[in-house]
Amino acid sequence: MTAGRIQKKTSVILIGAGIMSATLGSLLKALAPEWEIKVFEKLAEAGEESSNEWNNAGTGHSALCELNYTSEKPDGSIDISKAIKINEQFQLSRQFWSYLAGSHLIRHPQGFIRPIPHMSFVQGGKNVSFLKKRFETLSSHPLFQGMEFSDDPEKLNEWIPLIMEGRASNEPIAATKINSGTDVNFGALTRSLFDHLKNQNVEIDYKHLVKNINRTSDGSWEVKVKDSENGKIEHHMAQFVFIGGGGGSLPLLQKTGIPESKHIGGFPVSGLFMVCSNPEVVARHHAKVYGKAKIGAPPMSVPHLDTRYIEGKQTLLFGPFAGFSPKFLKTGSNLDLIRSVKPDNLLTMLAAGIKQRALTRYLIQQVLLSNEKRMEELREFVPNAKSADWDTVVAGQRVQVIKDTEAGRGTLQFGTEVVTSADGSIAALLGASPGASTAVYVMLQVLEKCFPEQIKAWKPKIKEIIPSYGVPLAENPALLREVRTATARTLGLN
Ligand SMILES: Cc1cc2nc3c(=O)[nH]c(=O)nc-3n(C[C@H](O)[C@H](O)[C@H](O)COP(=O)(O)OP(=O)(O)OC[C@H]3O[C@@H](n4cnc5c(N)ncnc54)[C@H](O)[C@@H]3O)c2cc1C
Repeated sequence: MTAGRIQKKTSVILIGAGIMSATLGSLLKALAPEWEIKVFEKLAEAGEESSNEWNNAGTGHSALCELNYTSEKPDGSIDISKAIKINEQFQLSRQFWSYLAGSHLIRHPQGFIRPIPHMSFVQGGKNVSFLKKRFETLSSHPLFQGMEFSDDPEKLNEWIPLIMEGRASNEPIAATKINSGTDVNFGALTRSLFDHLKNQNVEIDYKHLVKNINRTSDGSWEVKVKDSENGKIEHHMAQFVFIGGGGGSLPLLQKTGIPESKHIGGFPVSGLFMVCSNPEVVARHHAKVYGKAKIGAPPMSVPHLDTRYIEGKQTLLFGPFAGFSPKFLKTGSNLDLIRSVKPDNLLTMLAAGIKQRALTRYLIQQVLLSNEKRMEELREFVPNAKSADWDTVVAGQRVQVIKDTEAGRGTLQFGTEVVTSADGSIAALLGASPGASTAVYVMLQVLEKCFPEQIKAWKPKIKEIIPSYGVPLAENPALLREVRTATARTLGLN
């Protein structure tokens, strides 16, 4: 370490101004308000990568409509354990957002969360019988109360006229609907949280690219940052660093050199949405409708037709179409993937390359789809869709984690992974799904892993902010009712 280079030592450095850093910073400000926090973000504003409203699907994932969270067991029954877990995690987010809004720390919750029915829609006899069984299992569970099922075309016409119009009547179809779903504008939420952090004296340095992270002799971390306005290099120190760089987290984690960063790789998946530009069509749909992934398609490319609230307007998006791009961020470099291959993860990456040939082929096919081919996929949802009414927008990049697991070397992971050093002084968030919706749960995990000494003292405050912290709501119907009612009132979800 060169004398004179260090600007200042802070308690915490957060890298990246996405929803994850925003959530961790806000939790820390509630629990340890005296801690000094600094944020470095390479772009000019907060929430410009995956957390931006145009870069993700804005679904408040709580397993109300996503069919990939419930699987059919060999005996034909439906396994809903993953759905329960994800729903419980979303309830933690709702409570934290509700605390922030109720305490006037963030304003106008309707600017980032709106109620919207969540629906699942299937075609074909086998899928209809799966959906019916799924409905029967879920709807009797307290977390999923209020779910309805119908295979009656007249009812479906009432629920989803756009999807029913022009549809051949001979194929069995069915849908479930639950009105307690949400559309979350994660971009607006991220910006609100960073406004709140700024009000709490958090220093947020935009246009600052983190280039390196090194451990210092006293066990802290030195972060090398480039100010892209003047090209100057700065060095900052912190006792705790969170790498919340989204797709950019893996390369930064690798720079730390911690043993936990080894044998991990990343597989980038790009995305694309179709956006409806005809207000008459937009006005005729009012739901998030999730279908079933095509055979061979990865879970993140489950097609869905979504009412969204973006830039103060109701809009309609279809997708995402997955694709392949070697970039780790939308604003990343074509060399990201190749540069992430290191001697320690080479075999892991090669094994994944061999195993995932079918996925790579699928993604390349998706990239090569013409607009008309995409329209054909959209017409499976909206039979009368007109090409002139739909444009395309490029969505965010997801970097799926590749690691060696019991299932073998180079296994692709579809969830999120928190990687922490053994002493808890640095943590990184990798992976993408279920993503922003579960940011509060994931960041609470970071706090538990990285601050084992403080967490005991913080617990009463965490329980005050998030009453269901540590309590399964599925087993506490009274508390579930209480938090649902209170959060719906504060967030305007009634
Ligand atoms: C197509 C798509 C659909 C999705 N749909 C949903 C959905 O419906 N619901 C849901 O809950 N989640 C969804 N997700 C996932 C969700 O968007 C992400 O999990 C979440 O936004 C990740 O937040 P983050 O803060 O980790 O990353 P980001 O929002 O990507 O933020 C990372 C930030 O770090 C910055 N950064 C990176 N490297 C550096 C560096 N070296 N120095 C300084 N700054 C750096 C970046 O510029 C960026 O601003 C979707 C994602 C995609 C791509």
